[in-house]
Amino acid sequence: MKASFIPVSPDSDFPIQNLPYGVFEENKQTHVGVAIGEQILSLTLLESNNLLGEPLNLFSGESLNPFMAAGKQTWDRIRTKITKLLDSENPELRDHQSLRDKVFFDQSQVKMLLPAKVGDFTDFYASREHATNVGKMFRDPDKALLPNWLHLPVGYHGRASSVVIDGTPIRRPKGQLKEPDQEDPHFGPTRCLDFELEMGIFLGPGNKLGEPIPIDQARDHIFGLVLLNDWSARDIQRWEYLPLGPFLAKNFATTISPWIVPYAALEPFLIEAVPQEKQVLPYLNEHSRKIFDIQLSVELQGNDIPSPQTICQSNFKHLYWTPEQFIAHHSATGCNLQPGDLLGTGTISGPTTDSLGSLLELAWGGKKPLTLDGAERTYLQDGDHVTLKAQCHGNGYKIGFGPCTGQILPLQS
Ligand code: MN
Repeated sequence: MKASFIPVSPDSDFPIQNLPYGVFEENKQTHVGVAIGEQILSLTLLESNNLLGEPLNLFSGESLNPFMAAGKQTWDRIRTKITKLLDSENPELRDHQSLRDKVFFDQSQVKMLLPAKVGDFTDFYASREHATNVGKMFRDPDKALLPNWLHLPVGYHGRASSVVIDGTPIRRPKGQLKEPDQEDPHFGPTRCLDFELEMGIFLGPGNKLGEPIPIDQARDHIFGLVLLNDWSARDIQRWEYLPLGPFLAKNFATTISPWIVPYAALEPFLIEAVPQEKQVLPYLNEHSRKIFDIQLSVELQGNDIPSPQTICQSNFKHLYWTPEQFIAHHSATGCNLQPGDLLGTGTISGPTTDSLGSLLELAWGGKKPLTLDGAERTYLQDGDHVTLKAQCHGNGYKIGFGPCTGQILPLQS
């Protein structure tokens, strides 16, 4: 099996098979880099030292957008080049000590930044279990799934400006709330603050306005994946969401993990997607329906929960709609997708009670509080830390995504 001359422990998220892309700051200098073990290799410095082939100016800026725009051939070429440079058998970088001293950084010594300038964020609703559970609680238990759901990947246009990086504190938002026994709403802090276990798909070149992406070409627009927590205020959501969907209940923060795991690293983990119950229209019909087998989990820690407790274990493979179907559907009107656009999958809930991807579902709308280490939760409390994790298990290695954490801060006084 391929190995790097940089030491990588067996439980590391970042072996040479992964090589996720991120943006970091060190000594007031911004770099684009690749994670390997506990180190980061600066692509910005490799490029400026002419070690990445023809100078294309892909990594000189403060985001991955130029690289995302360059397209699949360039992604493949750069990934092959980096894999070769890090290979334990290749002396080119391994034996060039002065260069090594310059281009590697300790992950613990740098500050991670948002990996891309997110032009647009769209959130889908692609887990049948999640859509069914929310439908049961918010509407009608007998008609939980609305009639359009099996025919198209339901989504909404989200807010890009409040997409934040792992570790950013989340301030409890205020909004309009209406009690069931009152006729009029009042304004106050949310009492139903929740997380949503999702993954985010960063897009590559995209399409020109007016030119849809056909489903059989959609895969070439998937740059890579991150973890995504779509923080949600359920009491605000319940009052505001009809008829146009979520607005302020979800626009205050969306947390993503700092490392974008490239499609190429995830390709070995593609499996058959769940069969679709209804025949979909031709523009959504895939000849081969594949989905990633990515294990997902959520940990919760709080002032009264001293050690992190795993409250959910799910998997990307439970999604009913695939990322390719998101892209074909989103662009079907000719809507132009752009490099750096972020598509959320929607909460990834599975079929079992321990695979539900939100507190709304885990504690069933407040009716079945979770007991954790003696403490109880229906929704998030001030001081709570929520951490999403994801990994794929390969033959002798693991592909991880790094952490996606946020801590709830009390209202500003
Ligand atoms: Mn969501």
